[in-house]
Amino acid sequence: MKYISTRGETAPQTFSQALLMGLAPDGGLMLPESYPHISAATLEAWRDLPYAELAFQIISLFATDIAAADLRKIVNQTYTAEVFGSADITPVRRLHDGILIQGLSNGPTLAFKDMAMQLLGNLFEYVLAREGKTLNIIGATSGDTGSAAEYALRGKAGIQVFMLSPEGKMSAFQRAQMYSLTDANIHNIAINGMFDDCQDIVKALQNDERFKEEYYLSTVNSINWGRIVAQVVYYFKGYFAATGSNEEKVSFCVPSGNFGNVCAGHIARQMGLPIHRLLVATNENDVLEEFFKTGRYKPRGAAQTWVTSSPSMDISKASNFERFVFDLMDRDGTQIRALWAEVGAGKGFDLQLQLDKIREQYGFAAAKSLHADRLHTIAAVYAEDGELIDPHTADGIKVARQLRQAGEKIVCLETALAAKFADTIAEAVGKDIPIPRPAALADLESLPQRVTVLPNNPTAVKMVIKETLAG
Ligand SMILES: *Cc1c(COP(=O)(O)O)cnc(C)c1O
Repeated sequence: MKYISTRGETAPQTFSQALLMGLAPDGGLMLPESYPHISAATLEAWRDLPYAELAFQIISLFATDIAAADLRKIVNQTYTAEVFGSADITPVRRLHDGILIQGLSNGPTLAFKDMAMQLLGNLFEYVLAREGKTLNIIGATSGDTGSAAEYALRGKAGIQVFMLSPEGKMSAFQRAQMYSLTDANIHNIAINGMFDDCQDIVKALQNDERFKEEYYLSTVNSINWGRIVAQVVYYFKGYFAATGSNEEKVSFCVPSGNFGNVCAGHIARQMGLPIHRLLVATNENDVLEEFFKTGRYKPRGAAQTWVTSSPSMDISKASNFERFVFDLMDRDGTQIRALWAEVGAGKGFDLQLQLDKIREQYGFAAAKSLHADRLHTIAAVYAEDGELIDPHTADGIKVARQLRQAGEKIVCLETALAAKFADTIAEAVGKDIPIPRPAALADLESLPQRVTVLPNNPTAVKMVIKETLAG
């Protein structure tokens, strides 16, 4: 299988090339030339597979330049009960009103990003060793990507990690998780700005061809194709867990920011998984909600991006969104270049005429959840179901309850655990309710922290990378 760019001006690449690439040279995102279609018989055969075997079956359709035996080994190493807390890997449970929750946050950093990142760390190490290469990963995080990347790449041979985060915008737990790592290949950089500023710096460095080549830059941001493909797997797993037969349809509700998670759901649906609707939940930063309601996509700058109590969704420029629009516009790279030229000029675009197609053919709907909704949902789930959910998952449950149609079966993706966001949990249910936390993380916030603070400026970041790699 070959990979092409959404902007249509990059020569077709192999899976391994797309994996190491990040943004395509033409500024687009990599996607397979076409999606494999899963027959009814194959779907039936996959129903009872353990997670790692299902992952192997799905990923091998995409990673056609990795030997099957090697891929199976990598996948088996990644999706273990030791790393993800149970043999189910992504257990599905039920709330009293029938809403299902798929637990994607039982990995080392308690957020769903581990699902993809743990695989990516192992794939990177494998491909780099095979090709005798080294790689410097540069990333931007609003909290969960950074820690998931660092826990997946810490101590890996041939890899250095430079992770940008917005100074003072993450929870104490998130900061402690990243900044307390002492591995020599992990470099934390706090930027004086918002997450989108961090993302812009990463893009600036990626677009600097000379710097990128001289320093072997790559990324593990949510635009990385390897992450998307790993995420496709749990939609299949969640579908099988939620249904008794492949006659049934399921909708997924996805707390969204960069559109990476729900993009994987879109791909699973295109592959033929019987998904009814894909419900996009946003917080106060509602660019995606606006698009799915009106057809207008108007990304905003840092000044119009609110700091909220579901911080990992504080995103006003959804990088993976371009992958969906590419499919929506019948994979016409010329149109995508024109649309993103408008985005680049700060104007955005209007696809009002596509709204029916977006809803009917692609199954998308969206709604948002605000701070008060979040608190109310956390408190209600605690009162009615006796469990504490995290603020992002609460946004998803609020939206699922709001959009649910009669008879619709909805799986809400649990994108983090409550333990990561203690302040908001306390605000919702009071300080005296203990928040469960894995024993290994008991003293996390008291560990010494290591971080370099820099101004919002690509040149400053380049300097640090140069100095670190020279030393
Ligand atoms: C990253 C993240 C999201 C948003 O996921 P996208 O793939 O960026 O849409 C939602 N919730 C949590 C907890 C996250 O870490």
